[in-house]
Amino acid sequence: MFDLAGLTTLKLPFKAKSLIRLTSIENVCVSMQQLGSIPRLVVGGGSNLVILEPEFDGIVLRPEIQYYDIKESGNDVYLEVGAGHPWHQLVMKTLDAGWFGLENLALIPGWMGAAPIQNIGAYGVELKDHCHRVKLYDFEEQSIIELSVPELKFGYRHSVFKEIPDRFLVLTVTLRLSKHATPRVCYGEISEELERQGLDAEKPHDIAKVVISIRQSKLPDPDITPNVGSFFKNPVVRPEVADRLLEEFPEMPTYGSGEYTKIAAGWLIDRLGLKGQKIGGFAVNDRQALVITNDGTGTADELRALVALILSSVKATYGLSLAIEPTQLGQLN
Ligand SMILES: Cc1cc2nc3c(=O)[nH]c(=O)nc-3n(C[C@H](O)[C@H](O)[C@H](O)COP(=O)(O)OP(=O)(O)OC[C@H]3O[C@@H](n4cnc5c(N)ncnc54)[C@H](O)[C@@H]3O)c2cc1C
Repeated sequence: MFDLAGLTTLKLPFKAKSLIRLTSIENVCVSMQQLGSIPRLVVGGGSNLVILEPEFDGIVLRPEIQYYDIKESGNDVYLEVGAGHPWHQLVMKTLDAGWFGLENLALIPGWMGAAPIQNIGAYGVELKDHCHRVKLYDFEEQSIIELSVPELKFGYRHSVFKEIPDRFLVLTVTLRLSKHATPRVCYGEISEELERQGLDAEKPHDIAKVVISIRQSKLPDPDITPNVGSFFKNPVVRPEVADRLLEEFPEMPTYGSGEYTKIAAGWLIDRLGLKGQKIGGFAVNDRQALVITNDGTGTADELRALVALILSSVKATYGLSLAIEPTQLGQLN
C-alpha cells in the first residue's frame, strides 16, 4: 500500500494499492484500457476530497496533463487547458495575457480538471460562465469524447459528473475568455474592498487582487491548516421557506437564485455558536463557519461526529438539511 495522505488538503490517513500518473492524453487510453474493473479514484489537487476509508483497495489516478492550446476569434479567446494545470496559476496567466473572465475565481485551490466537476464558483461567477466544452475519457465506452455546455448539466456546485460519478476522466477543458473586460463586482464585499484599497473596479487585475485579499483574510490556507474549503453547500429553498425563516431570523443573509432563494449556510452555523467548536483534531473554523479544519491529528470518526453535530443543530433550529459539498470516499453519516 502507498501512503497518499499528502495528496489531499484535509490530510486524513489514506493508503491505496497503487497510483498511476497520467501525463498526456495519448497515454490515458492505453493505461485506462489495462485497468479493467479495478476500483479507481481520480485525485487532482485533493482540495475537495474527504477520505473516510484509510485503506483504498484500488488505484488512484492523477491526471497531470499539461496541455495548452489557444485559438482566437475576434474578441473571444478559446483556451484548451490540460487537467493537471493548477487553477489559480491559470487565472493569473490569463489575466496577464489580457484575456478576461476568470478574475473573480482567483485563489481557488486545485487543478483545471476538477473545476467542471462541481462547477467551481465564487463572487457571482461560476466555471459554467466561461466553459466552452470538456474533453473526457469515458470509462464505459473506453474512448475519448467531448461534452458541450448543455450536456455538462452545470448548476450550483453541480454537473453531469455528480449525476454519473466515476464514469469520466476530464482530460482538457476549453474555456471561452474575452479580450474585453466585463467586470462583475455586484458582491458588496468586492466593491467595498476595491474602494478601501483605492483600486479600479473596471480592471480585472484589480478585481483579482481584492478577491485574493478577501479570501486570504477569511479562509485558512490549506497548505498550513488542512481543510477543503466550504464543507457544506448553501441551502437553495423555495421563496416561501426563506420568507418563513426570515420572519424568525430577519438578519439571515439570502441571495436570489432564479426562482429559488439561496441561504448562507455559514451564517446558519455561526449563529448557533458553533464557530471554534472542536471534536478531537477537527474544528469549525473560527473565521469562516463553513470551513472545517484538521489540526493534523483528526480521525475520520472525529470528523463524522463534528459533521453530525452541525447537521443536527442546523436541522433542529432552522428545519433545513445541509448538503455536504466535497466528494467523499467512504461514509460520512
Ligand atoms: C481553502 C479552500 C477554498 C476553496 N474555495 C472554493 C470556492 O470558492 N469555490 C469552489 O467552487 N470550490 C472551492 N474550494 C474547493 C476546491 O478547491 C475546488 O472544488 C477545486 O476545483 C478542487 O480541485 P482539485 O484538483 O483539488 O480536486 P480534487 O479534490 O482532487 O477532486 C475533487 C473531485 O473531482 C474529481 N476529479 C478531480 N480531477 C478530475 C479529473 N481530471 N477528471 C474527473 N474527475 C476529477 C475527484 O475524483 C473528486 O471527486 C476550496 C477549497 C479550499 C481548500
